[in-house]
Amino acid sequence: MSDLRALPSVDRLLADCGPLIQDYGRLAVTETLRAELAAIRANRPDPVPDAQAILINLVKTMAAQSRSRLRPVLNLTGTVLHTNLGRALLAEAAIEAAVAAMRAPAALEFDLETGGRGERDSHLRGLLCEMTGAEDATVVNNNASAVLIVLNTLAKGREAVVSRGELIEIGGAFRMPAIMEQAGCTLREVGTTNRTHAKDYRDAIGPQTGLLMKVHTSNYRIEGFTKEVLAPELAEIAHGAGLPMVNDLGSGTLVDLRRWGMSPEPTVAEAVAEGADVVTFSGDKLLGGPQAGFIVGKREMIAAINRNPLKRALRMDKIRIAATEATLRLYRDPDRLAERLPTLALLTRPEAEIRTQAQRLAPQVAAKLDCRARVTDCNSQIGSGALPTETIPSAGLALGPSPEKLADRLRALAIPILGRIHDGELILDLRCLTDDAALLDALNG
Ligand SMILES: *Cc1c(COP(=O)(O)O)cnc(C)c1O
Repeated sequence: MSDLRALPSVDRLLADCGPLIQDYGRLAVTETLRAELAAIRANRPDPVPDAQAILINLVKTMAAQSRSRLRPVLNLTGTVLHTNLGRALLAEAAIEAAVAAMRAPAALEFDLETGGRGERDSHLRGLLCEMTGAEDATVVNNNASAVLIVLNTLAKGREAVVSRGELIEIGGAFRMPAIMEQAGCTLREVGTTNRTHAKDYRDAIGPQTGLLMKVHTSNYRIEGFTKEVLAPELAEIAHGAGLPMVNDLGSGTLVDLRRWGMSPEPTVAEAVAEGADVVTFSGDKLLGGPQAGFIVGKREMIAAINRNPLKRALRMDKIRIAATEATLRLYRDPDRLAERLPTLALLTRPEAEIRTQAQRLAPQVAAKLDCRARVTDCNSQIGSGALPTETIPSAGLALGPSPEKLADRLRALAIPILGRIHDGELILDLRCLTDDAALLDALNG
């Protein structure tokens, strides 16, 4: 029978909490201590813990509570742009710019030449136009917001015509039909899942039509007996009817990835040159910057988007504007982009280098975890809906036995290590591990 009368009082325990109070403050320590005592009273353990046991536990709880809830992890999943792990890592220049914008006031909406009011997008407009060939550009919170505000501005109360083959679900609640509904326009599906013809679009156009839209099928491919109307022809059909053509590229990229031996993903400049009036794309996918949604295109349409009250609701903050500007600036020197932009550096890391790293680390990881570790071939993915059917040859460690238990152990570390289970082994793809010490240190935690 548990004797709760033996439980020390809060005041008695607090008297021994000097260093803890120094670190975390009296209020936080008192509240946590109260909660622990309440838990003991509720659970009635036998024997009741003494003061020392309670205090040892309190030290642990305070330390755990003070750790950020947003925990840093090691991404050894093999997916470089992992949406659930925060997508792109920022370049040093972008991190510095963000920090500077956080520390001191910045001329965000202030024109230093005239002393009058400035525009927050003006910091990015020039770079975006230079890199895409578009007349004008604006930015919002993310690409989902970009699509929302474009549809709402250009097709509210009217129909947006999209091929059935392009009614994409990105994940979560982002489904193209749902976004259309929220934007206040009606989805007009044309064609079939695998085949859509120019005539399908033409037949759908009427007084109710607001725009024609092309959506990059970023996370799937339809193969076999297929037909799609390519952007230049779709733009021609739209313009023939006096309508805008919008192209949602999803990831998009500002550079030709073939330069680094990768498969091509559509560039924004190509999409602009193909006649789209408005092109939307993400900041934190292949572009390698912070979360952002870019909208580039014809001057009058960008102006209309900027006048939409939703713009204020979806606008980007100064921290990300600073980081985005610094990221975009790196693209002015493509020769050094792969060194400076972590996303590109990781995607282009040579397989041989990763294999050597795996060979070096296998015995150390096996020893630290007391498990089997062998070097294995891996197929990394870009992730975030870019080149979904392509993989990049990589190497890693295959750990066993009991991969589920190993995965649990690695997730419980102070810096959790995330891999994936495949064929009875826990696979750690080392593509995103640029520093051996990061893994070995994490294993010590
Ligand atoms: C990823 C994606 C989006 C959404 O972009 P976020 O930046 O995640 O908001 C929209 N459309 C397409 C085609 C995409 O691939």
